[in-house]
Amino acid sequence: MEVLRSKRELADWIRSCGNSERTLVPTMGALHRGHTSLIALAREKTPENDVVATIFVNPTQFGPNEDFDSYPRQLEDDLHLCEEHGAAAVFAPSANEMYQADTSILIHESALSHRLCGASRPGHFDGVCTIVAKLFLMTQPSAAIFGEKDFQQLVVLRRLVRDLDFPIDIIPGPTVREGDGLAMSSRNAYLSAEERAQAPVIFRSLTRVAKEISEGIIKTPDAAIASLTEEIGDTPLARIDYLEIVDSRSLEAITSLENANPRLLAAVFFGKTRLIDNVGLPALID
Ligand code: AMP
Repeated sequence: MEVLRSKRELADWIRSCGNSERTLVPTMGALHRGHTSLIALAREKTPENDVVATIFVNPTQFGPNEDFDSYPRQLEDDLHLCEEHGAAAVFAPSANEMYQADTSILIHESALSHRLCGASRPGHFDGVCTIVAKLFLMTQPSAAIFGEKDFQQLVVLRRLVRDLDFPIDIIPGPTVREGDGLAMSSRNAYLSAEERAQAPVIFRSLTRVAKEISEGIIKTPDAAIASLTEEIGDTPLARIDYLEIVDSRSLEAITSLENANPRLLAAVFFGKTRLIDNVGLPALID
């Protein structure tokens, strides 16, 4: 496996690969089974392609009071995991390699990014769109894999590819969970033992409400949100950031459960740690 630390090394490696195609798996490192599942999925869905994982804690997607400085960094362990799961190369640049000190252009998405996580994290998706576009240009992949765990990010990046004409297939990867249902996340490491014990309420509640909708027990979006709010709100260490039921394509709140493609999304603080999760619902139109 090649470890590439500069844009120059990456470009040289790409040139040495000749006509072979690539599948990109962007990450911020501190890799867990969620990330490695995306490398495995890349190998399964695009077997002819080389898998290029990237490891870069992207400063432009963090707000001023967020955890950029404390975000876990463990490059050596990450490189082992990438190699074990079959990446052909890892691109792990420094911040100076990726941004000029006076960088003045960011990509702004204006329809899907202002709500949900974008409302709590202003500018976050501009940073995400910018770094992903830069990684697309540098690695020239024919496919890229993103986790459904970050559902809004997946929808925003599909729009990035559509609107900027990147000839890249976006392939979603299912959310990988701990045994008790908690979505794997590099930020789970911040949780205290008590917070960690209570955090599975998010997925438990989302799946219960999804089931009750599909069984006709819950009949309206408002009732679904009320039910989630009650269970998660009653969890002593949980503080709700948002609970929403949206159309999977527009990310707009839905007013009827007859929407063909609804998705339940949650962002919940445990202490200072903000956790997100989501589940899809079966099509409910008969
Ligand atoms: P991050 O390192 O948090 O930026 O995540 C890198 C990629 O891994 C993104 O596409 C995430 O959506 C994806 N990812 C993070 N956690 C999980 C998980 N538990 N299951 C599947 N994919 C995940």
